[in-house]
Amino acid sequence: MLVIMHPDATASQIQAVCERVQSLGLRPHIIPGSLSTAVAITGNTGALDAGVFEVMSGVSECLAVTKPYKLVSRHSNPETTVISVPTPLGVVHIGGGSVAMIAGPCAIENAAQAEAIAQRVQRSGARLFRGGAYKPRTSPYSFQGLGEAGLNILAGIRERFGLGIVTEAVDNESMDLVERYADVIQIGARSMQNFSLLKRAGRSRQPILLKRGLAATLDELLMAAEYIVSEGNPRVILCERGIRTFSDHTRNTLDLSIVPAVHRRSHLPILVDPSHGTGHRHKVLPLARAAAAVGADGLLVEVHTTPEQALSDGRQSLLPDEFDRLVAEVGRILGVLDRTLN
Ligand code: PEP
Ligand code: MN
Repeated sequence: MLVIMHPDATASQIQAVCERVQSLGLRPHIIPGSLSTAVAITGNTGALDAGVFEVMSGVSECLAVTKPYKLVSRHSNPETTVISVPTPLGVVHIGGGSVAMIAGPCAIENAAQAEAIAQRVQRSGARLFRGGAYKPRTSPYSFQGLGEAGLNILAGIRERFGLGIVTEAVDNESMDLVERYADVIQIGARSMQNFSLLKRAGRSRQPILLKRGLAATLDELLMAAEYIVSEGNPRVILCERGIRTFSDHTRNTLDLSIVPAVHRRSHLPILVDPSHGTGHRHKVLPLARAAAAVGADGLLVEVHTTPEQALSDGRQSLLPDEFDRLVAEVGRILGVLDRTLN
């Protein structure tokens, strides 16, 4: 960390900063500048709390030199992580040259609904089926998911159609159950900073699909991933699902620029969810194409056979024919990039 002093900081204020650094068992290095002096700090093994120095008189600001996350950073592990998800239809690889297609309804509503959608997305080429049995809803009066009954329907989908299952755990109790049914456990945007859930996910043996919070920075997303990896689960898949901005033509603003940013800072794969990222059916295909072009390691797409009757997120769910077209077009874009859909 660099502690930048005010241009008019006194020698004793600079000395006080150096003594505070030493009191923490670290080494201060005074760097005189043309306008102001900086004190560089070395010897720390983890991130330093800038607040310790910012409150001292004569200090202008503190600049972090190293990132606060370690295990998920590309520095610590330059090799790109490829996550293998075994399914009855074969292993799905997420990361590197492989691009995963995950599709299904927002929520599991009943067996017939889930089966009709599973049949169609499987025929289109998806190998991973998404669908929530536990739904984190803004309103307590909205459909909350079928719970364990929904997980049982998902187990049937896996058996009948050979699809791997991606489904959400909303708290530590649901995680205990979800873990037994899911091939990939989703942690939703609203739970991105539920630290006890993140730690619990870190003790799971299943891959974790971690969605970006509605107002989370990239560093906050990576710190959330660090919680999971530091507890012992290295299989984390990040997911951009749109953030809150002032744009009112879209449910959320899909921040596609995070994809190359993640690839630079981290070795973890990142998916893009153009369904929650836009909130409107007509925007899903264009943004899915863009996500493939920008280098996403997979897509998470909501599909429904009767979206007008869906219990959640019908407005943003693609019809199966539209999903078919999405797979075909995304496949063509990936071909140009020497990447393959799986
Ligand atoms: C979902 O995937 O259906 C979902 C609830 O997503 P998010 O957490 O991104 O809102
Ligand atoms: Mn949804």
